[in-house]
Amino acid sequence: MAEQKRETLTTTAGNPVGDNQNSMTIGSRGPLLLQDVHLIEKLAHQNRERIPERVVHAKGWGAFGTLEVTHDISQYTKAKALQLGARCEMLARFSTVAGELGAADTERDVRGFALKFYTEEGNWDLVGNNTPVFFVRDPLKFPDFIHTQKRHPKTNLRSPTAMWDFWSLSPESLHQVTILMSDRGIPQAPMFMNGYGSHTYSMINNNGERVWVKFHFKTKQGHKFYTNAQSKEVIGETREAYQEALFGAIEQGEYPQWEMKIQVMTDEQAKAFKYNPFDLTKVWPHGDFPLIDVGIITLNRNAENYFSEIENAAFSPSNIIPGISFSPDKMLQARIFAYADAHRYRLGTHYESLPVNKPKCPIHHYHKDGAMRTFRNDSGNPDAYYEPNSFNGPVEDSSYREPAQSLDDCTIDRYNHRDGNDDYTQAGDLFRLFDDEQKQRLFNNIAEAMQGVPQAIIDRQIVHFEKADPDYAAGVKAALAAI
Ligand code: NDP
Repeated sequence: MAEQKRETLTTTAGNPVGDNQNSMTIGSRGPLLLQDVHLIEKLAHQNRERIPERVVHAKGWGAFGTLEVTHDISQYTKAKALQLGARCEMLARFSTVAGELGAADTERDVRGFALKFYTEEGNWDLVGNNTPVFFVRDPLKFPDFIHTQKRHPKTNLRSPTAMWDFWSLSPESLHQVTILMSDRGIPQAPMFMNGYGSHTYSMINNNGERVWVKFHFKTKQGHKFYTNAQSKEVIGETREAYQEALFGAIEQGEYPQWEMKIQVMTDEQAKAFKYNPFDLTKVWPHGDFPLIDVGIITLNRNAENYFSEIENAAFSPSNIIPGISFSPDKMLQARIFAYADAHRYRLGTHYESLPVNKPKCPIHHYHKDGAMRTFRNDSGNPDAYYEPNSFNGPVEDSSYREPAQSLDDCTIDRYNHRDGNDDYTQAGDLFRLFDDEQKQRLFNNIAEAMQGVPQAIIDRQIVHFEKADPDYAAGVKAALAAI
């Protein structure tokens, strides 16, 4: 490489550094000096290179790209970023759920599929998974579920017993367990899987009419998966298969794409739907609620600095734009709080002022001090630091108020979310979609995952498989007997 004139190395305060090879000592064999500020600064910075890793979705891979809207869905939403012909910049971060930052990429797990759209009306984050459903429908069970996926407090190992104990005691998990144990439990790389907003959201049009919505992102690269045996081979060679695949593809100009689609349900349809449309363990059948084309997302730019742009990326379902809103999905409601809260803890109070999280539209708020207070948000007048004020500080705009929502049942209680809920039909529908080879891999994957689990727990889980489809239970039993 041609030698160029180089910049002078400095401390973080900009003071020129005279020696970056040798510490300062008393005599050539003597002890170090506290006044060697360059050494002290280097060690102190290294000690602080880590921030708390995400409790879930710690290991991730991401890239930047665009959303282009190719179809007119203005009858459903007034969101400017979703009008025909609109184009906005975006960031995607994919992840496994359970593994820590150093976990291998191709482990069997659900994958996070988090999208941040930098729209002119603020950031819109759609923080979904590669599956349309989830293990639990009540957020009160989420910390318990995650504990079963993490390390046992005494052995410090992951515990198949804990996982199957929890799942067998939580029949609502069967649908997601079936997807997890199917081929789609180990995609070959982020490009080869679908994404789903998973929750039910709502859309509001220019007339103030609200419909319920689910988001789908269909991979244009096709679905590709690893079997358990293949994934072990891959992990033996590299723990970073997804980073290599996604980063490499984009460097080579092979830009992955997904087709964005929505399903729409009116309030009348929601009332008549045989399931609770806000239940995260259920899908809306395509036959009843067909997919509607919206546009295409393309990932075409790698981050320049992984930590700064991917580890620092903070997605939260609470970030919505006019024309898109929430629903009574209990899991969504909890995540609206929990995700932003996780980032305040993980990154600091003003985490949305970090470059990767910063909206690309003007921002005016009255939040004051705290970590990362690097910005000026006083609209040019330092006297306007509270509201209401007489100093031309920003004010609300009532045109952004959402239409009111009415609730049929206004009684507050802890409703039993398991009572009379059909946890089996949709899991069975999925099972019956699989061909014989897919079914056999499902049986084998479950049998392998159940090794070491007490028989009473296995028996309890097999009752659930039986209720979804007798062939499902029979296949798992046969696979267990064959091990
Ligand atoms: P459809 O026949 O219309 O749709 C079946 C769906 O199953 C397709 O979207 C297909 O995805 C997906 N699929 C295929 N193999 C797998 C797998 N191994 N893991 C997860 N999904 C897979 O049927 P319905 O809409 O009536 O749904 C039937 C079942 O399909 C549901 O119970 C649910 O488990 C599953 N499903 C339904 C979805 C929905 O939103 N309705 C979404 C995803 C799954 P693709 O098109 O990419 O091949």
